[in-house]
Amino acid sequence: MDPRHARYPFLAAARESVREADIGLAGIVAGDERHPAVERGVERVRRALIDGTVRPDPDAGRRWNPRAELLSYPVARVLVSLLDAPGAVEKYASAEADTAYERFTDDFENPDDGLKSTEDKAISLDALLAEFDLASRVSETDDGDGYRVAVGRYLALSSDLDGESWRLAARQLADGTVKVSAAELHELLREAVRQRVAAGLPTTVPDEIREGLVDEVAELQDTFTEVDVSRDIDVLAPDCFPPCVASLVERARDGESLSDPAEFALVAFLTSANADTDELLALCGVDTNTREKAVGYRADRVGDESGAQYAPPSCETMAAYGECPVADDADPTDDPRCDAVAHPLEYYEAALADAERAGE
Ligand code: SF4
Repeated sequence: MDPRHARYPFLAAARESVREADIGLAGIVAGDERHPAVERGVERVRRALIDGTVRPDPDAGRRWNPRAELLSYPVARVLVSLLDAPGAVEKYASAEADTAYERFTDDFENPDDGLKSTEDKAISLDALLAEFDLASRVSETDDGDGYRVAVGRYLALSSDLDGESWRLAARQLADGTVKVSAAELHELLREAVRQRVAAGLPTTVPDEIREGLVDEVAELQDTFTEVDVSRDIDVLAPDCFPPCVASLVERARDGESLSDPAEFALVAFLTSANADTDELLALCGVDTNTREKAVGYRADRVGDESGAQYAPPSCETMAAYGECPVADDADPTDDPRCDAVAHPLEYYEAALADAERAGE
């Protein structure tokens, strides 16, 4: 198996190698034990939606072989198609593209550090341009300070990119081509990857595969779908936060670097509790540039543009993350309200109602 395909599973040749290996998805999802490709596919989608990357979780300490890595891509496409979560397909495609972008820009800079293994895995700019049918539509400028891209392809790749600078009116147009810098060409390639990954999603999933992935979809759904709270939560009241969130806020304020799932849980909760990005940052005592950017970015991504948003994880998931103080075996927190809820937002809703009654 070509290790390059494991790093860039959206390549046409990677798809072909899956076909040639004659590995059907139905066979992968069947069986009593979870196939490594399915395990990694679940991680791929979870990481994409929570962390904006599809790289393996560095904290999980698990290494995936190239075969599982490659096969996890079609599994992830199916999983994201089966998920009923707002914006999941778009977020997934962006995460695949962002990860590919990190890898190919790194490959362009370090095509060969003298190791054959590195050379085997790396992709060149020419190969990537050819992959997206851009080889004859992109050429280096005569003075070597950038590239010229055929205007039709430029428009197709830049139309969804943010920023005035991508508008054609802001560009030098000559002989049906648009001048771009090397960095901008890489951005266009990222967009080409995103478009390819998003194409055909959500896909139609045959029943036998859908049935084989019921547990995996439920696991992801539990993490991402909105909890059914009976009233709009439009008050930010830290005194009513459940013990899990109060603890996360305190740790963030103390400058602790939270794990990705813990940070997601905190940001998703605060966003659901009506905190805007500034309130969220203030509440967590975030003041350094780096951390502000990281958490602010996460907050923007967790909140969906349409107003829909990912709910924070359920109590069960919080306990599995080791982030539920009530389920802490060594030193459990006692909170009667926790006995009656299955989700931190339900706790918050009940606590707000109690506070409202007490103030009447
Ligand atoms: S039981 Fe639920 S709401 Fe209560 S602390 Fe644990 S995770 Fe939070």
